[in-house]
Amino acid sequence: MITYQLLIHLPKPISLNVGKIGFIDFPKGHYLYTGSAKKNMKSRIKRHFSKNKKLHWHIDYLTILPQVQIEDVLYFSEDECSVNQKTAGIIPVPGFGASDCSQHCISHLKFIE
Ligand SMILES: [Zn+2]
Repeated sequence: MITYQLLIHLPKPISLNVGKIGFIDFPKGHYLYTGSAKKNMKSRIKRHFSKNKKLHWHIDYLTILPQVQIEDVLYFSEDECSVNQKTAGIIPVPGFGASDCSQHCISHLKFIE
């Protein structure tokens, strides 16, 4: 299992319908999303960068937007929930990307500026 973090840039604020979560106001700026993959890390990261995909994870609702850019990808050997909990930031959407968390994360998406 490898943990990764996506540094995501949203150039303008947006109100977005995130599946079952509903409409959320995302402020403009940078976000960190923490995820993990057991294998095929390359294809996972490639999928995050793709603008043409089925909406499966919460993060897809952001990354599919043409104006949203993934500016960096960081890798960690620790498990994703530990990395996420050590990441400072504001939680814009409780429950975002955290539906299968073992460590009661409130969100795997954090707004950092
Ligand atoms: Zn977690």
